[in-house]
Amino acid sequence: MSKIGDTTLLIDLIALEHNYWFLKSRLAQETKFLAVVKAFAYGSDMITIAKKMERLGIDYFAVAYVKEGVLLRNAGIKSPILVLHPQPVNFGELIHHSLEPSIYSPKNLKLFLEIAKDKKQIDYPIHVKFNTGLNRLGFWENDVDFIVEHLRDRKELKVVSVFSHLAASEDASEKPFSLTQIETFKKISEELNQKLGYAPFRHMLNTSGIINYPEAQFEMVRSGIGLYGYGNDKAIDAQLKPVAILKTIISQIHKIEPNESVGYNRAYKSDGYKITATLPLGHADGISRQYGNQKGHVLIKGRKAPIIGNVCMDMIMIDITDIDCKEGDEVVVFGQNQSAEDFAESANTISYEILTAISPRVKRVIINS
Ligand SMILES: *Cc1c(COP(=O)(O)O)cnc(C)c1O
Repeated sequence: MSKIGDTTLLIDLIALEHNYWFLKSRLAQETKFLAVVKAFAYGSDMITIAKKMERLGIDYFAVAYVKEGVLLRNAGIKSPILVLHPQPVNFGELIHHSLEPSIYSPKNLKLFLEIAKDKKQIDYPIHVKFNTGLNRLGFWENDVDFIVEHLRDRKELKVVSVFSHLAASEDASEKPFSLTQIETFKKISEELNQKLGYAPFRHMLNTSGIINYPEAQFEMVRSGIGLYGYGNDKAIDAQLKPVAILKTIISQIHKIEPNESVGYNRAYKSDGYKITATLPLGHADGISRQYGNQKGHVLIKGRKAPIIGNVCMDMIMIDITDIDCKEGDEVVVFGQNQSAEDFAESANTISYEILTAISPRVKRVIINS
């Protein structure tokens, strides 16, 4: 591959395709697959990812907010798009762009019904979300009658799916809780079907759910992190491929004498002769201050170079004393030999957070398209 020359987030579409087929292989053939592309496809490139997934035959997309769905529609994405967390103020725009809301509260159901009526909609698709234990968003079990009363004999809305979300799908120690959530969801959806008089399709599993509870795949699953190459499990990670690879280069090399300091607040003090390199990325690019002061490291020619001192807004400094390298050489932050999960762990966080943190200032380059 040609030299990057600048801080770059490489986005590997063959890795994406590999991850998709890997996850599909763990499911029944007829199970629908929803690709979660919220937060710019977990910090990568939402439009490119969505277009690739459409070419691969994806059934559904999900985003968190209406404005994300509008970006997809404006880019020509035609597949159904579920908006997981829409706000009533955006309901008009949502309908205008044929986006499909998650309806999670009595208030939102009433407001959406009014707007759908106003806009003379017939059978507008909605997805009814139930809370089965995450206690974040969703109707309660005893809201079924309210929902049915408001939808019965009304033509504006059609419940196309009913769904819920596991609180701890990656946590083996919480298996009994997850199984209870699954049972609760089954019970609610049966009651809803019976009272509605038709059977919306059902979905409950995120990536770790697909891995750990395939028996609860129902008619569809929703995967985000798995598509991007992470499974919250070392054995699964080994079978997935990271889509996002963050690389940068060495801007400048310094020779540091004993007892000198490096960076703001003199946070690093050398205990001998050191060689340091300055890199063109900092907390404004998504590398938070938590990675500083030897918590995190980057790789040069496969060797570990710790981040020393405080992370600056546009730069970090690393210790390259024992690494044979020069200005302009390539540096891997994560995605190659060091996974985003491992890098994140060094700062006490998770792959989801570091991936979605990489700011728009970092150039995205698509590879293997
Ligand atoms: C973000 C999200 C997902 C995707 O979860 P992953 O762990 O990334 O697969 C699925 N469902 C809901 C409701 C979400 O908010």
